[in-house]
Amino acid sequence: MEAPIRPDTLRLDGVRKSYGVGTPVETEVLHGIDLRVAPGEFAALVGPSGGGKSTLLNLIGLLDQPTHGKVRIRGVETDKLGDAERTVLRGRTIGFVFQYHYLLPAFTALENVMMPMLASRGRPGGGMEERAAALLDEVGLTPWKDHKANDISGGQQQRVAVARALAMNPALVLADEPTGNLDTNSADGVFDVLRAVNEASGTTFLIVTHDPRLAQRCDRIIELVDGRIVSDRPNANVVRRSGAVFSESARRIS
Ligand code: ADP
Repeated sequence: MEAPIRPDTLRLDGVRKSYGVGTPVETEVLHGIDLRVAPGEFAALVGPSGGGKSTLLNLIGLLDQPTHGKVRIRGVETDKLGDAERTVLRGRTIGFVFQYHYLLPAFTALENVMMPMLASRGRPGGGMEERAAALLDEVGLTPWKDHKANDISGGQQQRVAVARALAMNPALVLADEPTGNLDTNSADGVFDVLRAVNEASGTTFLIVTHDPRLAQRCDRIIELVDGRIVSDRPNANVVRRSGAVFSESARRIS
């Protein structure tokens, strides 16, 4: 018997997106995107501002729907889902990291990481606290877990945001300029953490970045210009680091 084929984490076929549909200012900003991302990939999405990266990420994150074409997440045809089903699929499958961390400032790092679990389950318990603590350990923040989100550095806040994105054990993490607000050192530290998670758990990452230095550390670079993918190539220069080196750098607090 043949082994079952694992579906792509992400598959887009002929995806088009227009804004202002039915109005005089209707504008198509994505012009037929075909894209496949396999489980465990660590890919960068690059391109000039206004090229459609955020629009594409919103469609992939099930925050918006294409005007034409199909978005499949782990083989599920998302256009066939109702709003409630899309919300469930998003919550169970996709983690988000944004340029700004959006942590709740009056809550501790640990509580912030527990939020998605609480929202999903409705009440504390069931090992949530232990899981949140383990995730904070993974991003090198154990000593800061009981600090309020307001009282830690920008790099540390973004690490908490990464741990929170992982709370529901997503197959896919979408990161939109996750290091855009950070200095070079902190950016490197956060990027190391993303990579370490990818290598340790096989989580798929799609990372929008303007920083060519960081894009060069991804396995694949997808370039979007004026609503079209103009290049999509494996990155031959990438150096995969061993878990040991990563766990060390993940613990270098920035
Ligand atoms: P990027 O993330 O690459 O900077 P965007 O996806 O933000 O690109 O934008 C792509 C194009 O879509 C731009 O021309 C932008 O002005 C337009 N756009 C983005 N969001 C909207 C919206 N909600 N309504 C109308 N036009 C939009």
